[in-house]
Amino acid sequence: MLNLMKKINNVPCSCGKTHSFDSEVYAGRGAINKLSDVLLGFGSRKVYVFADKNTYAVGGEAVTNILESSEIAYSTFIYDESPKPDEKGLGSAVIHCPADADTVIAIGSGVINDIGKMLTALGNKKYIIVATAPSMDGYASTSSSMCRDGLKVSLSSKSADVIIGDTDILKTAPVKMMISGLGDMLAKYVSICEWRISNLLTGEYYCENIAELIRVALRNCVKVSDSILSRSDEAVAALFDGLTIGSVAMNYAGISRPASGAEHYISHIIDMRSEEFGTPADLHGIQCAIGTYIATKLYEKLYSITPDFERGTSYARDFDFADWSEHLRTLLGSGAESMIALEAKEKKYDKEAHRERLKLIIEKWNDILKIMKEELPEISELDKLYDKLSIPKSPTEIGTEAALLPEIFKASKDIRDKYVLPRLLWDIGLLDEFAKTVE
Ligand SMILES: [Zn+2]
Ligand SMILES: [Zn+2]
Repeated sequence: MLNLMKKINNVPCSCGKTHSFDSEVYAGRGAINKLSDVLLGFGSRKVYVFADKNTYAVGGEAVTNILESSEIAYSTFIYDESPKPDEKGLGSAVIHCPADADTVIAIGSGVINDIGKMLTALGNKKYIIVATAPSMDGYASTSSSMCRDGLKVSLSSKSADVIIGDTDILKTAPVKMMISGLGDMLAKYVSICEWRISNLLTGEYYCENIAELIRVALRNCVKVSDSILSRSDEAVAALFDGLTIGSVAMNYAGISRPASGAEHYISHIIDMRSEEFGTPADLHGIQCAIGTYIATKLYEKLYSITPDFERGTSYARDFDFADWSEHLRTLLGSGAESMIALEAKEKKYDKEAHRERLKLIIEKWNDILKIMKEELPEISELDKLYDKLSIPKSPTEIGTEAALLPEIFKASKDIRDKYVLPRLLWDIGLLDEFAKTVE
């Protein structure tokens, strides 16, 4: 499946761009054995290996055996506990890294990889990630999700030079991490749908080849979902390939549109509350699965309405940004400030621009419904899948207070300057009505 990804690499695309992605990806059974050739190719003389206790237990021996037999000098650092992506987590990896190491091998998934990408972007060293779980789509992304001065930030780093997803290593990951990986893939139903709707309404750049790459990867993951619980080789491989394609697609597009939409922002709001107030949160992909369920259900409600110019304009007229800002502060604490500040640049609540957008929505309504029909699954399909794998459908199942759900959904439109479902609902004056039904 990864060959599909290569098909549009470095060739002029019909969207007008030439997509390129330079990392090497080795996936499948025995992929780890590529490591010695990779190191030889790099001319590596001194390697720094880091992991945490759990990830080292899974992949450490395979990596160090290869280093031993290749007679390459190396040193290792193993975190006692899973690190946080903050000053201490990154600092520990840096302080143990020999200055003359020319190559870094990280063994792990989300946080370990975020730290590895930061460390090697700063230090100009070759970087190899040996993936230990198909749990999220950040392996090939060029940024790191970090926590700086207590605030969650996405920092520009680099994509790994080589990504190794050996099925035998990946399949030792807990089933919950695989379900999380599936959740990060299910999010793509919504992200592609919203990318197309935004393209239609705002003229945002869109590439059909990238969208199709994601659709194929997503279908493959759903097809093997039956055997995720038994951690079959094919399920693990499909998830790893799909998630890799998800992050490569973001590289190709130069934006996160192919892989994230409203469902990711619902997840971000839950994370922001968790950081500010210590409220419960769960794995990234589990929260994305919940966001996908919520968004799909709300999109389905749109089939039975017709946008109305009067309703839309009177809703926008009554909207008070100062009031809404106070709402955000109550919901999110200090994290709200950067979201509130975005409006000065985005002007998403500008009344005149809204009228124009609303006219266009009314004119293009049938096209919007058509996109939804083409991209989104029916909620009954998701019900079957979620029930089969015991995937949570509501934030209440991961400990979020039910009374906060409408507010969390409404706040998800303020995270980034992206046209997503809660913005469409705001435009047509139905945001409050729809948000009330989130459960
Ligand atoms: Zn393209
Ligand atoms: Zn994600």
